[in-house]
Amino acid sequence: MKNRKRLYTLIISIIVLMGFLATSLIGYFVARSSISQRLQQEMLPLTSDNIYSEIQRDLLHPLVISSLMANDVFVFDWVNEGELEPEKMQSYLSQIQEKYNTITAFFVSSKTQNYYHPTGILKKVSEDVEADAWYYKAKNANQPYLINIDRDTAEPNRLSIFVNYRVLDKKGEFIGVIGVGLSLLVVEELIENYQQRYGREIYFIDRQGQVMLQSSKYSKELHIQNKEGLDKVFTRILTTPSSSFSFNTVNGSTIYLNSRLVPEFDWYLIVEQVNDPSTEKVENALILNLMVSFAISLIVLFILHLASRGYQGRLETMATKDKLTGAINRQVFDSFFTQAVARGKRHQEALSLVLIDIDHFKQVNDNHGHQYGDYVLTAVAGIMRQQVREEDVVCRWGGEEFVLMLQDCNQNQAIKLANNIREAIAQHVFEYNGKKRQITVSAGVAEYQQQETMSQLIARADVSLYQAKNNGRNCVR
Ligand code: GH3
Ligand code: MG
Ligand code: MG
Repeated sequence: MKNRKRLYTLIISIIVLMGFLATSLIGYFVARSSISQRLQQEMLPLTSDNIYSEIQRDLLHPLVISSLMANDVFVFDWVNEGELEPEKMQSYLSQIQEKYNTITAFFVSSKTQNYYHPTGILKKVSEDVEADAWYYKAKNANQPYLINIDRDTAEPNRLSIFVNYRVLDKKGEFIGVIGVGLSLLVVEELIENYQQRYGREIYFIDRQGQVMLQSSKYSKELHIQNKEGLDKVFTRILTTPSSSFSFNTVNGSTIYLNSRLVPEFDWYLIVEQVNDPSTEKVENALILNLMVSFAISLIVLFILHLASRGYQGRLETMATKDKLTGAINRQVFDSFFTQAVARGKRHQEALSLVLIDIDHFKQVNDNHGHQYGDYVLTAVAGIMRQQVREEDVVCRWGGEEFVLMLQDCNQNQAIKLANNIREAIAQHVFEYNGKKRQITVSAGVAEYQQQETMSQLIARADVSLYQAKNNGRNCVR
């Protein structure tokens, strides 16, 4: 019984704990996935959009200047007149450079292929030279300008943004490429600014995956293929205009990454975030959740334990005791008897039964009512219990008949005890609802004999009781 109760408690504990564990974990994973989804689909793209629109704003200014230059009458006339006196173009370019504070201003003529610069003619562009490819690209472009990020011809160590504006004469014929250059420092500062503000890594890569521009604190000349964790996904970045995903690095951290193509530069802008900071909060919530669940489980189990103990006690009483008199009932007498027989054998003790029946009990009911009868039964049972020893059993055999099972007690001792009980009852004045009366009982005694069954013993006691009734009642046989 106890083992089974333990098993049930264990099963219930496991179910309760599993339930709590499941809901806690489901909550945790849902929160985590919604946070990472938000990061990937909203927060990182937003940073990327902001940077992109600031870049576009910064580019607007040089674009306007270059457009003005490409439509300048001076440029048309000077080219038309045969590019005489190069100092004129030189001083025009240097005026532009000073006035608009650009790092360079230039014009490349289609006719002479001269590269004009505020400091003079730097060189002639040539189709065979890789470094001049930007000019031919702009020449053949089907849009008014191209933006090119390149090393400055005048200062090869410096990467600059060039606006290469196509110049068309009045007849619409291509006569050269004009424009200004500005420092990439502006974009670099922008990146650093965003990096600090959001704690995200921001950099640009070209179409080959070469890191072109990044915060100054990172080492230069890096290919994303060599970046930890990116080696497996870099083709995905380079083959789509924009992508958003997360991946795990070897050291167990999760990196969220957003990429978008910046067409003006023909570069990808990459925004990366290592380990979402809010996952820590979600993890703390999970731990708290588990602790609360555990505490509730313990409380539930404790209450369950108390309830089942109380309930079991009640069930045991209900099953063994007669509700009215509190005496043992007939159903369990059997097992008490078996135990007593075993004990008697072990200790070489006698065992006796006394069958007691209330005399003319029907009259009690008839004269005073059923409730009075119930009261008498309870009181009689009480008197009997007072007369016997702790280990003796008082059993309500049925109606107004009781069986006493007396341990370590032979027939003579049993008769003596039965007479004591009989006398005590006969002398007792029963009073209920103001009505007094006295009653008597008759009793039959039998001592247990070897190999006898319980019903045989009861039958012998019953014969004695019958004799007592026939002998005028209020006596013991
Ligand atoms: P006798 O001296 O021959 O035993 O006469 P008696 O009237 O006691 O005989 P009998 O056994 O015929 O009557 C028993 C009565 O006990 C009948 C029944 O109505 C009544 N009785 C049985 N159980 C209860 C009970 O729980 N409460 C009450 N009030 N009466 C009960
Ligand atoms: Mg009877
Ligand atoms: Mg009777």
